[in-house]
Amino acid sequence: MEKIKMATPIVEMDGDEMTRILWKMIKEHLLEPFIELNTEYYDLGLEHRNETNDQVTVDSANATKKYKVAVKCATITPNAARVEEYNLKEMWKSPNGTIRALLDGTVFRAPIVVKGIDPCVRNWKKPITIARHAYGDVYKNTEMKVPKAGKVELVYTAEDGQEIRELVHTFDGPGVAQGMHNVDRSIESFARSCFNYALDIKQDLWFATKDTISKKYDHTFKDIFQDIFDAEYAEKFEKAGIVYFYTLIDDAVARVMKSEGGYIWACKNYDGDVMSDMVSSAFGSLAMMTSVLVSPDGYYEYEAAHGTVQRHYYKHLKGEETSTNSVATIFAWTGALRKRGELDGNEALMEFADRLEKATVDTIEAGEMTKDLALITTLKDVTVLNSEDFIRAIARRL
Ligand code: NAP
Ligand code: MG
Repeated sequence: MEKIKMATPIVEMDGDEMTRILWKMIKEHLLEPFIELNTEYYDLGLEHRNETNDQVTVDSANATKKYKVAVKCATITPNAARVEEYNLKEMWKSPNGTIRALLDGTVFRAPIVVKGIDPCVRNWKKPITIARHAYGDVYKNTEMKVPKAGKVELVYTAEDGQEIRELVHTFDGPGVAQGMHNVDRSIESFARSCFNYALDIKQDLWFATKDTISKKYDHTFKDIFQDIFDAEYAEKFEKAGIVYFYTLIDDAVARVMKSEGGYIWACKNYDGDVMSDMVSSAFGSLAMMTSVLVSPDGYYEYEAAHGTVQRHYYKHLKGEETSTNSVATIFAWTGALRKRGELDGNEALMEFADRLEKATVDTIEAGEMTKDLALITTLKDVTVLNSEDFIRAIARRL
């Protein structure tokens, strides 16, 4: 059989621990036998990040600007324990944070839906994709414990000295206060990323805030989305047969619960943080959740939503058998390969991505799965496979 060729490389960002082990197996059993894999390789494993003073992460993000498509393995975000474990020169920043800062994107998370791993919400039939704005609001706040009676004000001073002053509250005793912000530029790029992604996957886009209460702050989000939609996207949406739908956040939550899924739900930073955990656990498993960073300039970085599965890695190091779920990492690869195919007009590559996803889903639906899924499936008589045998079972179907 002739292998599928790739004219343009994708950026390959290798990572850490158990997911690094899975990464190698996926390439060996599922990709390299079928594709002449053309990647520009960046080793984002913590040791190499440390050796390069984290330059490799920056380089990989810049390469993503050049080639437009990247696939990333989960990586360790160092904390004090990791600094000791890896003898790090510094507590390097989260690679995802660094990459996001350079590409300026929005993260879309979607569950992989298979028969036998049923969502807790009975009527959810299709995936719900959460788009979380990743800048500002309460994540960049300034807080104050108000010690006793007094006045809290919000003061803006322009460069030319103009001043705007708003009373927050006149306290008659102790309390708390908080200031937060966002910037139009970030909200605009969030909006464009959402509209582009909706067109990309041809699904409706929902957006919700609390603009009835937050008449300036949240209302600005609503207005920016609407202005950009009207000016740049309304026609394209109509042509694609999809809709943009704005509602209040509490109404959105009620509708989401009653819906059957199959749309993108754009959320402000805090809503996205909370709702993505709710949606992902209601769909079954973090190991069945994909994630893609979409930049307003049309760069795509695909990854699994879970981490490096440290506990399994330590078992692996001790020579014990592991049953780690590789589905989200496989779908990161198929997402990137399909996008590469789309951008290059490479039908064979797009078709391969479809087939690999189907082989993966079919394997689980036939009752062959890893332990995490075996624990929650409604299928009877399942076979629990170890990490490698699960990938081999997919390869057989492929
Ligand atoms: P994690 O790697 O997502 O794992 C947490 C637990 O979830 C695991 O111990 C395992 O449960 C279960 N799990 C997650 N993925 C699984 C899979 N593919 N198959 C089977 N079970 C799975 O999170 P963590 O242990 O909190 O973080 C470990 C490292 O990952 C940290 O250093 C963190 O910085 C990093 N991290 C990276 C990213 C990223 O690169 N995007 C995201 C999150 C975390 P059981 O142990 O009960 O089997
Ligand atoms: Mg959270």
